Formats: sequence, structure tokens, C-alpha cells
Amino acid sequence: MRQIYLDYAATTPADPRVIECVRTALDAEGDFANPSSAHRPGRNALARVDEARRQVADRIGADPREIIFTSGATEANNLALKGLAARHPAGHIVTSAIEHSSVLDVCAALEQNGHAVTRVAPDAHGAITTQAVMDALRADTFLVSVMHANNETGVINDLAAIAQVCRERGIAFHSDAAQSLGSQPLDMQSVPLDLLSLSAHKVYGPKGLGALFVRRRAGLELAPLLHGGGQERGLRPGTLATHQIAGFGMACALLGDADEVRRITALRDRLQQGIVALGDVQVHGSGERLPGHLNVGFGGVRGETLLRALDGLAVSQGSACHAASMRPSHVLEAMGVSGELAQASLRFSLGRFTTEAEIEAAIALLARVLPALRSRG
Ligand code: PMP
Repeated sequence: MRQIYLDYAATTPADPRVIECVRTALDAEGDFANPSSAHRPGRNALARVDEARRQVADRIGADPREIIFTSGATEANNLALKGLAARHPAGHIVTSAIEHSSVLDVCAALEQNGHAVTRVAPDAHGAITTQAVMDALRADTFLVSVMHANNETGVINDLAAIAQVCRERGIAFHSDAAQSLGSQPLDMQSVPLDLLSLSAHKVYGPKGLGALFVRRRAGLELAPLLHGGGQERGLRPGTLATHQIAGFGMACALLGDADEVRRITALRDRLQQGIVALGDVQVHGSGERLPGHLNVGFGGVRGETLLRALDGLAVSQGSACHAASMRPSHVLEAMGVSGELAQASLRFSLGRFTTEAEIEAAIALLARVLPALRSRG
């Protein structure tokens, strides 16, 4: 059966312009050489890396020297948290209860090793408020890590306000922007953030590549996770993946199209309206949300049967990373959603290639399947 792909928050197909860019950095005719080599092909490959570094930096208003390429946002989150924690043995970290597992699990590991961690709960809208972060701070807090936008609900946090609070107190602030990079303007010139995690495959770039923005300032000397050839200012050694880096650069250069954001928002709103019209549903997350996200709980339906009945619709129950576990989402749980409704909740996420026809087909499919599921109880 042809699938309607509404899982852009899990990953995106690469943009054809990105695929072409990647190809030209791989083959014998292209810039395949090691960017650390001194010969001309090496220098050409380095030029491709430099260009991509500037494209990524431009997207977030950073200096190219502040971009460290990693294997993804997971590694960027690990490098930020473990890298800074290594400099502050036994200090206190504030994070939120709705972070991605690549932050939550790192915090749990740090806790095992003697750090203290406070996990701030979201408000009723699914947002982490500045006040809640402030209330959690202690005299020995050295790091706050709060995501820009949540991957399950799309709810956006006020990074500028949280960053300001941290800066005033001399506390480092890290944010996971894997989900928001595609649609939200981010400006490191005006937002006093210290560390920002990015991922290429959420923005029509290749999988297996991300970046950590590390602000150039005293007191922010991270310990590397890996030791080796000294690439990426010693923070991430290993031969640079020129093709993936070039692809990420191109993907970033293609972002920022306001018409695209408006189009996706309108399609998401149409999907929401069509689903709400089916009755007995609850939209999770309100206030400012990412344009392509919609998380809905379906009343009167058993969670296990829901996804199976929707074969033909590629959507997620919770985040893709936990799809195998069938545990209710920790995000919805933290927002006070009952376990039963959390299990019967789906995340729809739209993107660049979503069409109106797909949205109408998804609504029609739900309208056909839901009454049958509900009558079965
Ligand atoms: N953080 C968030 C908020 C995410 O949504 C994801 C991807 N599911 C990640 C981190 C991990 O990113 P990557 O796949 O690049 O490691």
C-alpha cells in the first residue's frame, strides 16, 4: 500500500539539491579527498567543508569557528553535557522532564557518577517556563539544558528568556534544537546561548551528521568524548565526512523560506481541524508550536490497535526512538496526560514534500477507521 508519510519529526527525505551536493563530494571526479591533506584535492575538500561550516553558522547567526561537526544531535548532546560535566565534578545540572532520551539518558549517567540533576516539569501547555527553570537553580548549578522545541508536541520554549537568566548567573546554557532548526529563526548573536545541538536529517540533509555550536568564551572548554587526530579543534577527532558536511551545509542554505513555513502551517491546521471534527480527541500541546507538528490523543480507542488499523499512514506513537518499547510517552506523562490516552496518541508531522492531497487522504482514512475502532471499545 502506498504510504502517506507524516513523520517528518522522525526524519526527512533528503532534498534533491542536497543529494546532488553530497554526490559531488564522494566520487573520483568530486571532492572526495581527505580535507586534512595538504595537496590540492585535499584543499578543495577543505574548501567544501569550510563553505558548509559557514552555511550552518549563518543559519544560526554564529561564527563558523563555533561549529563542531558531529555524527548527529545525539552526539552533540552527549558532547555538550558530558564535555562540560567533566570540568565540573559533582556539580548540579537543571534539565527538563520532556527532553529527548539523548539528553535524559546522559543526565541519568552523570547522576550515577556523582552529579546532581533536577528535571523541570512542563506547564499545562507542554512548555518549560523560565520561572520553573529559575526555581530549580542552586548555588552549584553549572549547566542548564532545555530543548528549543519538543519532538513529540512541537511546543516551543522561550530560549532567549532562559538563556538570559543563565547568563546573568554565570551558568552555561545548552539547548537541543534538532527539531526547531528547520523552521525557527535562531540567532546566536542576540540569544546568549552557550551550546546548541543540531541534526542534519531533520532538515532534508543526510543522516549521520549534526553539529554542536560552542560559543567562544572563557569557561566553556569542553572535554572531548573521543581522542585522536585533533580535528574540529580537538573536540571531535576523525576524518571529516566531507559529503555529509557539504550536504548539511546545503540543507541549511535551503532553509528559511517563509512561504514554505506558511504552507506547512496551513496544512497542519487543516489536518488538526479535520481530526478535531471526528470528536472525542485531545490535541496535546498548545501555545507556540512548530508549524508541522500535531500530537493528538484519540478517546475511546485502544493504543495497540490504533497504529495497526492505520496501515498506510506513516505516523509515530510518541517519538520514533521509543517506538519499540510501547511505554507511554514520557512527554505526555509529564504533561499530565493519562497513560491510557497517551497510548492512544499519535504524532503527525508534516514537511517540505507534504501535499494537500496527502492531508485530505489522511483525514479520510481516520474518518473511516476511527468509528470502527471505537465501536470495538
Ligand atoms: N534531539 C531531538 C529533540 C530529536 O528529535 C532527535 C531525533 N529524534 C535527536 C535529538 C537525535 O538526533 P540524531 O538522530 O541526529 O542523533
